[in-house]
Amino acid sequence: MKERTCIIIGGGYAGINAINAIRKTTHGIPLRVILIDKQPYHLRKVLLFKSAAEDVTITIPWSEIFSEGVSFLQGAVTMIKSQEKQLQYEDTEGILHDISYDILVVAVGSVIRQPSSEQGGMALTDLHTAASIRQRWQENLLAAVKETDKIERQRLLTAAVAGAGISGIETSAELAYVMRQEAAALQLDPADIRIFLINAQDRLFPEGPAKVGRKLERVLTRNGVTVLHRCKAVQEKDGLLLLADGKAIPIGLCIWTLGLLPNPELRSFGLPLTPDGQIAVDASYRVKGTQGIYSIGDCAHITDPVSGRADRMTCKEAIPQANRLAKVIVADLSNRPAPAHQAYMELFCIGLGPEQGLVWARQWGLDFVLTGKLGLKIRKFTWDSASLVQ
Ligand SMILES: Cc1cc2nc3c(=O)[nH]c(=O)nc-3n(C[C@H](O)[C@H](O)[C@H](O)COP(=O)(O)OP(=O)(O)OC[C@H]3O[C@@H](n4cnc5c(N)ncnc54)[C@H](O)[C@@H]3O)c2cc1C
Repeated sequence: MKERTCIIIGGGYAGINAINAIRKTTHGIPLRVILIDKQPYHLRKVLLFKSAAEDVTITIPWSEIFSEGVSFLQGAVTMIKSQEKQLQYEDTEGILHDISYDILVVAVGSVIRQPSSEQGGMALTDLHTAASIRQRWQENLLAAVKETDKIERQRLLTAAVAGAGISGIETSAELAYVMRQEAAALQLDPADIRIFLINAQDRLFPEGPAKVGRKLERVLTRNGVTVLHRCKAVQEKDGLLLLADGKAIPIGLCIWTLGLLPNPELRSFGLPLTPDGQIAVDASYRVKGTQGIYSIGDCAHITDPVSGRADRMTCKEAIPQANRLAKVIVADLSNRPAPAHQAYMELFCIGLGPEQGLVWARQWGLDFVLTGKLGLKIRKFTWDSASLVQ
């Protein structure tokens, strides 16, 4: 059988799990697998909040994930010429290359929503901003040690996380923990550390039951986070966080955690997009109107053919998509009927600082909730398995 070239664009959770599944599923089908990514590593994006709190490594070089059987090209894909079955990418020197494929998997993911520059604060968007956030709260604590004015010292010991999705919850919990620890080490009173979590909604965790939202809030409160509901942050300016209701909170640091947007670079790819900017695919992840091109993960608009419900932009949904995609590709190559997408069960794992977590799942109409150390253990397992860490 003739060897085919399978290119995967993007080595996020969707991309690496797709490669893993394709290699396990396509035995007997000669396939040359190439991963193209802008970065020389897989970024464990869900752990970005940890980088804002501590100096931890949250990247894994490609060679550690795939020691053999996968070639890696570093570059940014700029265009897909679907008629010619070719794509164009720009390498790290800025040189453009064309490369041919037989099978193409587009998994270029999402970007983190940023506030406008006038809104001030720091958005937790990448490794660089995470390091700047870490530096800022550490500098604030050091300045607080020397500060004699009580009001100014309290401002330096106060931070706000604007945006109370899962990422905001995890960031505020982790920050409260590390800032309290650091405060104690600097002979400051850890109880003076104040973290505000600014939530535009009525309650936390609208994705699940109200009682889980309340449970999350109880743990956060116990750990030093104050949740402000029905509250919208507008701007950080001159040490004040201005809120939509006209009030202002003195703060030393404002972190924005505003959620995800489909990768805007998709607009130049030449593939069909939905009005929201995701790639339009059929029930088996085939890109509409093209041959041999598939898309999964945050960049694809994937709906359950039975319920019509769209998958969210989460890695827990991208991974079953990746596993199913491998079966779809094998079925398409052998001219057999391919499996169709099915929504993944409702499941959320949330870290609540380095010592606690919460897992909520709904199955057979029942809610399952695990908290504390067991919740964290499951949380860690999901973080590791998503990044193929053994
Ligand atoms: C702070 C934070 C916390 C989160 N927490 C959770 C959580 O707890 N649970 C959960 O399920 N989900 C969580 N998510 C969402 C999760 O991270 C995403 O759903 C997941 O990363 C999607 O995976 P992906 O592979 O589709 O895209 P991404 O992870 O965005 O990966 C895309 C890859 O494509 C590469 N790329 C982009 N453009 C190009 C290009 N033009 N050419 C070549 N390569 C390109 C990028 O470098 C990247 O490696 C969180 C997200 C954030 C930001």
